[in-house]
Amino acid sequence: MPEGDILRRTAAALDHALTGAIVVRTELRWPSAAGTSFDGRTVLGTHAYGKHLFTRFDDARTLHTHLRMDGFWRTHATDSPQARGRDPFVRAVLGTADRTAVGHRLGMLDVVPTRDERALVARLGPDVLADDFPERGLPEALVRAERRGAAPVAEVLLDQTVAAGIGTIYTAETLFARRLWPWTPADRTDLATALMVARALMLRSVTATSPTATGETAPGRGTRVHGHAGRPCHRCGTPIAVGTARRPPMERPIFWCPVCQAAPAT
Ligand SMILES: [Zn+2]
Repeated sequence: MPEGDILRRTAAALDHALTGAIVVRTELRWPSAAGTSFDGRTVLGTHAYGKHLFTRFDDARTLHTHLRMDGFWRTHATDSPQARGRDPFVRAVLGTADRTAVGHRLGMLDVVPTRDERALVARLGPDVLADDFPERGLPEALVRAERRGAAPVAEVLLDQTVAAGIGTIYTAETLFARRLWPWTPADRTDLATALMVARALMLRSVTATSPTATGETAPGRGTRVHGHAGRPCHRCGTPIAVGTARRPPMERPIFWCPVCQAAPAT
């Protein structure tokens, strides 16, 4: 599932391709938005909040999309074959004279008045990648985390209502960096530092592969534990383990080193 870093890169790629240009082609292949057109409108910009994307137009409307499990946006030269969006999984096409953005396998799509954007993310905690996260978001996230009490720290990092944008990859990487057993009660951890580590790792990923002129947003993630099950730990050589965070049906895989991240003595 795409995490906040991917959403940031996607927003930057859409900005690069569309912002300031006039839409000449709109195709929203989504029942509730069928027939909606942005043709003739100017794109004001795209921004991410957690795992949500908001593309604003100059008529006070916003296209809201979410990548869910495996969605992605790509941008192409408008006169290229890929810009046609022939793939059956394409859910949205926004074309300008020069560049066209194509949204594949989107998990959510709706058109809302720009002033109502905030309501769509009102339930979420502060965006861990927001510029003001260290000053404003972090204190709020810590207050929200207190409600989770002794829940496993992995679950609290994954909880989008605590802080938005962190998924299984950066949860695992953060816990490895902090040498924390994923099921440590969150209220017995330094959660502020963990959140700031998650933010730093994600920001590194955002800048590692800035969107190119072609709009590519291929991940540049070099993980230390996520996806490494059975392979030796970078620090100690112990095979990396994989377990489960959260309960069915919301369970998610979580990778950790049984030695570097041993369970605390009770
Ligand atoms: Zn280790």
